[in-house]
Amino acid sequence: MLESEVAYCPHCKKDIHVAVTPAPEHATHANVPDGGQLVCLDVGEACEGIVCPLSGKSTLMMGVRLARAGEEPVEGWPHVDVICEGCGAKESMEVLDGTHAFCPRCKTTNSVMLIKMAGGTYRAVGRPRPDT
Ligand SMILES: [Zn+2]
Repeated sequence: MLESEVAYCPHCKKDIHVAVTPAPEHATHANVPDGGQLVCLDVGEACEGIVCPLSGKSTLMMGVRLARAGEEPVEGWPHVDVICEGCGAKESMEVLDGTHAFCPRCKTTNSVMLIKMAGGTYRAVGRPRPDT
């Protein structure tokens, strides 16, 4: 676990937990270092679609960062079984928002249409149509 600190979120109007992602051990020219970034550990449904006032990033990117840092929000990620477009395996992925799920096996963020079922579980219903 990352060390977390309590901060006040003006959007959620409550105290939340934030942490700073560790710097990558091997920063290469091909990779943008993703260490030293503020992530909110309490990012949740109330934050969907907004720009986080603490990090200045969209909540989707917050979710991606959180997932890649191996962190989970306090309430835990919902999961959904999806066949990964990255590694081809059927994985129980972390739901980032209504159209994205994160594969823990190959670290691919999948674009997938998700619907939330009664009871809070998610089901994949297909792929979003490409823009082009
Ligand atoms: Zn995968």
